[in-house]
Amino acid sequence: MIRTEFLSKSFGRLDVLKDISTEIKKGQVVAIIGPSGCGKSTFLRCLNLLEVPTRGRVYIGDIEMTNPKTDIKKVRQNMGMVFQHFNLFPHMTVLDNVTYAPIKVKKLSKAEAREEGMKRLEQVGLAEKAEVYPSRLSGGQKQRVAIARALAMQPQVMLFDEPTSALDPEMVKEVLEVMKGLAQTGITMAIVTHEMGFAREVADRIIFLDGGKIAEDAPPAEFFSNPRSERACQFLEKVL
Ligand code: ADP
Ligand code: MG
Repeated sequence: MIRTEFLSKSFGRLDVLKDISTEIKKGQVVAIIGPSGCGKSTFLRCLNLLEVPTRGRVYIGDIEMTNPKTDIKKVRQNMGMVFQHFNLFPHMTVLDNVTYAPIKVKKLSKAEAREEGMKRLEQVGLAEKAEVYPSRLSGGQKQRVAIARALAMQPQVMLFDEPTSALDPEMVKEVLEVMKGLAQTGITMAIVTHEMGFAREVADRIIFLDGGKIAEDAPPAEFFSNPRSERACQFLEKVL
């Protein structure tokens, strides 16, 4: 579903990603972890070309994102992204937030979009908030709406960049529960997270980034009980 070949990204003289070649299969849930500043967000953003790679290739399914001829906007419709800060439209109700892109981009009728939107709000446990404005929601609820909004486009791939990092501790769990439910639906997910318990329980694979490269790529049981690299050991000592 997602494949990178020698993906490299530099900002000026700072080489952030160095020849990353990997793939994420359809339906796989991959947690991307590593020290702050190691390039996790850059990696995720290169997958949907929010950052343009300096070298190398990115494929989503059969489509090469890094080919200048590719209609990136079209492929992105198939890739939901959820950020640390939820970026909801403050002047729109929850349901309007969720139906906006399907109506604008996918040209769904208002009725179709509302039906799909309500399904997605149910999926994140917020159907009863459909008509309220984001300012009336807690941080955890806002992030669940952001997830519903991404899902309303019916993407095959979901990218999450530290979706719980900006939340008060008591709201982290409700968002992780929604993501856990989503993982069970068979959608392909790449999740940058510092929630090690969640990564261990929900991910099929852990990718540990360090120094611009994949330092480890292993099933969670193996990674957490028996990390091979010195850097992963040091990292886990700090976070566990
Ligand atoms: P992480 O998400 O793992 O914390 P990032 O991918 O955000 O790391 O950043 C990796 C490195 O690239 C950091 O040193 C950061 O300062 C740098 N960086 C990220 N985005 C930019 C940018 N747009 N311009 C210059 N440097 C950047
Ligand atoms: Mg980041």
